[in-house]
Amino acid sequence: MTANTEQDPFGQLPEELRIRIIKLSPNPFSLRNLAHASPAMGRVLDRYPLEIVEEVLEATVTSKIRRMMDAVLKARFSVFPASLSEAQTIAETDSTTVTEEMRSSGLDRAATAVRSLLASAANVHAWSHACLENLIRKSMQLRPSTLIKKADGYTRREEFENAESHKKDYIPQDTGPPSWVEELRMMLSFWQLQFFLELQGAGHKGSLDANWSRQDVDMLTRSSVDGFYDVSNCVREQILTASDFLGAVTSGTIASVEAVDQKAYSLPTIPWVEDAVSKCRCTEAFEKERINSYRNWAPGHGYVDSQGPWGYSFYSAMSSLDGWLDGYRLTLCYPFQCWRKHGFAIWDDKRMVDLGMRHPTHKSFMKASFSYSFRWWSLLTEEELRQEFSLREQGLR
Ligand SMILES: [Zn+2]
Repeated sequence: MTANTEQDPFGQLPEELRIRIIKLSPNPFSLRNLAHASPAMGRVLDRYPLEIVEEVLEATVTSKIRRMMDAVLKARFSVFPASLSEAQTIAETDSTTVTEEMRSSGLDRAATAVRSLLASAANVHAWSHACLENLIRKSMQLRPSTLIKKADGYTRREEFENAESHKKDYIPQDTGPPSWVEELRMMLSFWQLQFFLELQGAGHKGSLDANWSRQDVDMLTRSSVDGFYDVSNCVREQILTASDFLGAVTSGTIASVEAVDQKAYSLPTIPWVEDAVSKCRCTEAFEKERINSYRNWAPGHGYVDSQGPWGYSFYSAMSSLDGWLDGYRLTLCYPFQCWRKHGFAIWDDKRMVDLGMRHPTHKSFMKASFSYSFRWWSLLTEEELRQEFSLREQGLR
């Protein structure tokens, strides 16, 4: 026995027990940390990599994140979706984590693939936290105006401009670290980004040529991540929130986050900031009930994934070109991008209230919609105000 093993308390335990313990890891990051910290646990992971990762993912991550992790793990075995359309709906379609092909590819290869998946999970987690922290910091600097009295105007914009208001008076309240669901939305988006990049890399190397048509490979090559997945507009805005941040970091616009190991077809690596550990909700124990309620809640009809957070629903209603409210045409007629940069595609209700963007008690966004539209509108810059969709141009007035 090596000195290492003597210091490793898990080294004393029979293998069977070590397997049971490692399978109880409360999340993929703990699994990775345990295998790193304890050589005995590392050996167990290397001996039963697929079985262990399959059980841990099944018990600890939500279904959409699991499907994205399955897809990334398969890509590490050079197993890719059979077609472009299968790739575009990958987070929506049930799959098995481990296929026969993966099982029969040899233990070394499986151990390497699983370890690299876990390294990606840690990196996706680090990106999610860095992005959320940055958005929270920026949104705390917002100073929206408060409406005092409506005024007349020919258009909603004139009404806003003529209204009596307290200018830039509202100071956001600190909601604190990201909630569990905010973290999940962000992590799913970064996994979608990671998989898209890996798939493009596979297309570039010719690995898709056996199954995909030339046309589909070309389509993938020309795609950008926001147009690639077959998802709702709200989820698209969440993916864009992640990819905007990636772009800002890699271009050096956000100097506080340093991306190393920049490759064309993967998320670059960023260091995990220790400070984030204390603020992390997603590594809290994923109790079974919570996971189950999330699963029942999410697929198809749930709130988290299908309709998306309140902010996007409010935007959709207020910008609907065929909708009316109180006899007025609804007019938050600017691209969502103007608010995406403040994290509005990600935030939970509580944070939107604290930012002054949502009424604290009214459940319906139609109530007090004028004063809250005014708050949203008051955040726009001169340049953004010029991007107003013209209803007249569209023949809608
Ligand atoms: Zn976290």
